[in-house]
Amino acid sequence: MKHGNVALFVPHVGCPCRCSFCDQRAITGGGEAPTPDQVWEAAKTAAAHLGERTAQTEIAFFGGSFTAIPREYMLSLLEPAKEAVERWGFHGVRCSTRPDAVEEPVLSLLKEHHATAVELGAQSMDEEVLRKNRRGHTAEDTRRAARLIKEAGLELGLQMMTGLYGSTPERDLETARQLIALGPATARIYPTVVLEGTELARLYREGVYRPQTLEEAVELCGELLPLFEGAGVRVIRVGLHAQEDVQRRQVAGPYHPALGELAQSRAFLKGLLPRLEREGPGAYQVKVNPRSLSVAAGQKRANVEFLAARGFAVRFVPEDQVPRGGFALSRTEIK
Ligand code: SF4
Repeated sequence: MKHGNVALFVPHVGCPCRCSFCDQRAITGGGEAPTPDQVWEAAKTAAAHLGERTAQTEIAFFGGSFTAIPREYMLSLLEPAKEAVERWGFHGVRCSTRPDAVEEPVLSLLKEHHATAVELGAQSMDEEVLRKNRRGHTAEDTRRAARLIKEAGLELGLQMMTGLYGSTPERDLETARQLIALGPATARIYPTVVLEGTELARLYREGVYRPQTLEEAVELCGELLPLFEGAGVRVIRVGLHAQEDVQRRQVAGPYHPALGELAQSRAFLKGLLPRLEREGPGAYQVKVNPRSLSVAAGQKRANVEFLAARGFAVRFVPEDQVPRGGFALSRTEIK
């Protein structure tokens, strides 16, 4: 079932290091850590708006390293969240954290406060990439944390980045394979964006680091999406959220407010093109789920034009019976 979030951002306070790419202020859209009252008020407001949908909504602590923040503060945020779950029937509580900040006792505490899911900021499974980007943890930390989360009966989410300093598309693909092997329920993919005030901004200006272009990021995410989804992992986010702060503080890199849709369109094209190539040039009717129509055609009909330039005149037609992301192909007469 698809869940929504009451998202609360806990910036930086739990971080033992400063990762090369991180400017939590820009990413979370604000520098202030929430107070327990703010957690309660956010949940109350959301419950009033959501009505029955409250049962499909989680109270989510994102942004920093939730399980690494001072324990007292962490509990002070969890208490109102727990009470809100009990009073208004939220689905539960989720949080994102660092792989080296996950231990059995903290997972027990989370569960006592109705936690349902923990997301790990794995970012890469390549030791050199982790080191170069000052993550301060290893791939083994991620494997261990993932195992503990699953053993605790919590839903596992994994987050990865592409185009980090020292990475390559092959290394990113290998990271995805290793993450999939950990059996997550969900994944988020974040192509690296260079933000002002970060180590990466300095490396970029010195000409040491070259971020991905938008096209490179879309192409790679177009490969990663089917990899995760084919393994039954739900990809719940591609690219940073559209935040004014991110746009203002972006120095370089593949930021795009609709990166997820661009990646889905590319993934669709990568599935369709080999089929068309087997059939040969000509005119085709391609039935897709009505909700996949714009993804199939691509932004500004990019996929349609790409295919036309290769001799495939494709017309996308909505068909309820076709599952989302799939297609049914038939030749038609050229009119
Ligand atoms: S652990 Fe997360 S929040 Fe902390 S500095 Fe690194 S990326 Fe930023």
